[in-house]
Amino acid sequence: MTAIRPLVAGNWKMNGLGASLGELEALRERLAQKPVPEADAMVCPPATLLTRAAQVLAGSGIALGAQDCHPLASGAHTGDISAEMLADAGATAVIVGHSERRIDHGETDVLVHAKALAAYRAGLTAIICIGETEAEHRDGSTLDVLNRQLQGSVPRQARAADTVIAYEPVWAIGSGLTPTLADVAEVHGFIRGVLGQVLDGGAAGAMRILYGGSVKPANAGELLFVPNVNGALVGGASLNAADFYAMLEVYRGRGRSG
Ligand code: PEP
Repeated sequence: MTAIRPLVAGNWKMNGLGASLGELEALRERLAQKPVPEADAMVCPPATLLTRAAQVLAGSGIALGAQDCHPLASGAHTGDISAEMLADAGATAVIVGHSERRIDHGETDVLVHAKALAAYRAGLTAIICIGETEAEHRDGSTLDVLNRQLQGSVPRQARAADTVIAYEPVWAIGSGLTPTLADVAEVHGFIRGVLGQVLDGGAAGAMRILYGGSVKPANAGELLFVPNVNGALVGGASLNAADFYAMLEVYRGRGRSG
């Protein structure tokens, strides 16, 4: 199995004012005092904080991501933000296709695919989210849904250097519920297999597949070592520096994930 360097990415969603930058400073400080060289860290604050967050994180090794982008580089799209603008503000990655965008804003796989291409155009890493709803989970269509989302959302030219997949069961997000470790292993193995069909040139083996959905310090030590889980996309627990650091710390001394 290919060794993949894990990533723990925090999605702040629509949370955070200037005062919240103190959590970033605290995270930076903790990592400076006691680094976790086995894993990469990324924080995705709201767009309003990107520029200030970039200043706080400069030189820290903690990457800065954004939460969404428009497919086009510029134009008459009031309220939208392009990938180029995010890069200009200091981001090096952008989440696309989060279930909250797919559900709240009706985003389709076609649109998510276009947003991933926009990320590449601007030199950003695309974190492409997929995941089944509770109803889909209950009626046993999880793998069909994920197959459709992967085929439709992930560009064929995606590479491990510019793309991360995040599997986030919608019913696990913010609910405190998580799939069993066996289910996570099955789904992540399935995703790796579908990526093998979707991507040109055997890129699937090295691509990071994150698990997301109620990851917290108490369960990270188990969830993050399931085969084919190469890190986490974390919502609520990423807002607190101590919790975020604790999730990174599970990798100390445990090397790379497969
Ligand atoms: C998310 O929405 O990306 C997420 C994983 O949220 P939480 O960790 O709060 O479940």
